Amino acid sequence: MINNKRWGSWAQKPETIDPSTADKEYSAEILVIGAGLSGLSCALSAAQKGADVLCLEKFGKYTARGFNIGVCNSSYMASRGFENDVDAVAREWIKRCGNRCDEKLVRLFLNRSGEAMDWLMGMLTSPEYAIRPELQGCLYKGETYYEIMGSHLFYDGPISKQGKFGGLNDVMEPMYQEALKAGVRFVFNSPLQQLIVEDGRVTGAIAQNKEGEIIALRGQRGVVIATGGIGGNDEMCDDLCPIANKVAAKVCAPKGSDNGDGHRAALWAGAAFEDGPFPAMLHPQAHRHSNFCFLFVRPDGKRYMNEDNYLQARAYGVIKEGLKWAWAIFDSDWREKVPETLKYGGGIYWGHDFPLGRKDEFQLDHEEERLEWGLRIGAAVMADTPEELAEKMGVDPKVFAETLANYNRMCAEGKDTEFGKRKELLIPLDKPPYIARKFGPALLSVVGGMKVNTSMQVLTEEGEVIPGLYAIGNAAGGRYGVDYPMLIPGNSHGTALTFGYLLGRELGGKD
Ligand SMILES: Cc1cc2nc3c(=O)[nH]c(=O)nc-3n(C[C@H](O)[C@H](O)[C@H](O)COP(=O)(O)OP(=O)(O)OC[C@H]3O[C@@H](n4cnc5c(N)ncnc54)[C@H](O)[C@@H]3O)c2cc1C
Repeated sequence: MINNKRWGSWAQKPETIDPSTADKEYSAEILVIGAGLSGLSCALSAAQKGADVLCLEKFGKYTARGFNIGVCNSSYMASRGFENDVDAVAREWIKRCGNRCDEKLVRLFLNRSGEAMDWLMGMLTSPEYAIRPELQGCLYKGETYYEIMGSHLFYDGPISKQGKFGGLNDVMEPMYQEALKAGVRFVFNSPLQQLIVEDGRVTGAIAQNKEGEIIALRGQRGVVIATGGIGGNDEMCDDLCPIANKVAAKVCAPKGSDNGDGHRAALWAGAAFEDGPFPAMLHPQAHRHSNFCFLFVRPDGKRYMNEDNYLQARAYGVIKEGLKWAWAIFDSDWREKVPETLKYGGGIYWGHDFPLGRKDEFQLDHEEERLEWGLRIGAAVMADTPEELAEKMGVDPKVFAETLANYNRMCAEGKDTEFGKRKELLIPLDKPPYIARKFGPALLSVVGGMKVNTSMQVLTEEGEVIPGLYAIGNAAGGRYGVDYPMLIPGNSHGTALTFGYLLGRELGGKD
C-alpha cells in the first residue's frame, strides 16, 4: 500500500520530476544506486561481464564499515578444514528468524555465498593487492544460540598499509579500483531523489548533484537499489522498526547514511516492504566495552537476565528493561576467569572486543587498555567492597550487595535458580577489587527492506514484479524476518556481497 495512512511524512510521495527537465543526463545498461558493499559487488561483477555500468552515490566515496564478511563454505574455509552442512544451517537460520525469512533467499545465500567469496578473494589475494585472509576465531558457543565458522577477515590491505583502520575498507578499496578498471562510471555526491517510471517500467533515477543540478540517470537493463538501510532515519524507524530508536547509540556511519532514501523511492514506484517490524542489528557495544558473562545488573543494582547469551540478546536484554545501559560486574581475577569461559561462550564483546583471527585467544593487552580507558572516562568504576562499588555506581549499596551475595550463593550451589545460566559459567565474583563497567545497546543497521524474489526483482504488494527494479543489501527484505541471526557472524556483509555479485552477473550477462 503506497503512502500508508499510519506512516509519517517520510512516506508521502513527492511531485514527480520529469526527466526531460533534468540539467544533465547519464545513460548506461545498468544503474546501481549506492556504493556500499552490495552496490559495489553488483557494479563490479556486472562490469566484469562486459556491461556498461553507472554507479550513483550520495557521498564522495564508497561506504565501508566494520570488518567481517560471513559466508557459508568458501574455498578458503575448505582449505582450512571447515565445511558447513547447508541443510542444518538453513534449518537453524529459519528457526532463529521465527520462520519469517524467505527460505528461498536463505538457501540461495547458503548455496552461493562461497562462490561469491571465492570471486572476491581471487581479487584480494592477487599479487596486486596481496591481502591476507583469516577466519574469525572467536565464536559464541552457547547451547541455544551459537555461531558457526564462516566469518572472513582481511589484513594488510591498502588502507591498513596507510596506517589507518583497515577492516572492510581494505576490501572495498580494491573492489573500487577493480570497478574503475572494468569501466564502471561513478557519479558521486549525488543523492537519489526518485525513480523514473515509464510505462510501468523503472528505467532510471533522478538525483541532485552537489552543484544543485537535477540529473537523470538511465539503466536500460535494470536499476538496482543498493542504498542500505533505514536505521539513520528516526521517523522511518518509528513506523517500521521502533526498537531501533530505543538504543543508547546509533552508529550508522557515515552520518546521513542509512536514511531509507532507496526504500522511499522504491515505495513511490509501487514496491512493497516485507512485513514489519523490520529486523535490527543490535550489538551491546555502546560505551565500547566487552561485557563478559558474569553478572549484569540494572542501574538499580538488580540482576535481570541470563548473561550467557549471544550479543544481539545481550543488547535486547537492556532494551527490554526499558533501559539505555546496564552494568557488567567482574572481579580482579577477570584476566584468568574470562579465558576459562571462552570454551563455553565467547563471541564479540565477551571474549574479544574485536576479533583478530587468533583462534581462542583472549587479547589481554587490548582488554587492559579498554578497562583503563573506561576507568578514566567514568564508564567503569572499581572498589574494594561491594558496598563501595555500589556507591560509585550510584546504586543503593544494600541492594547491590544482596544481588552479588545471591549471585555468589548460586555459583557456590552450582544452580542459577533465577535465570538458568549454565553451571560452567556460574563463576563467583569474590576477589576484590570489584569492577563495574557500563554497556548499552547500539544500532548498527536495520536489515529489512523491499520484497524481492530470488532474482532480486522488487515486488508489489500483490507479488508482481516491478519491471526494471532490483534491490540488494539492506534495501532488500526477506533475508531475516525477525532478528539478525549471528549464526554466521558478518552475514549482513555476506548477503550484501553474495546478492550483489549474483545480480551483477545476471544483469551483466544479459544481451
Ligand atoms: C559501524 C558499523 C559496523 C558494522 N560492522 C559490520 C560487520 O563487521 N559485519 C557485518 O556483516 N555487518 C556490519 N555492519 C552492517 C553492515 O555494514 C551493513 O549491513 C552493510 O553495509 C549493508 O550493505 P549495503 O550495501 O546494503 O549498504 P551500505 O553499506 O549502507 O551502502 C549503501 C550505500 O548507498 C549510499 N546511499 C544511501 N542513500 C543514497 C542516495 N539517496 N543516493 C545515492 N546513494 C545513496 C550510501 O551512501 C552507501 O554508500 C556494520 C554497520 C555499522 C554501522
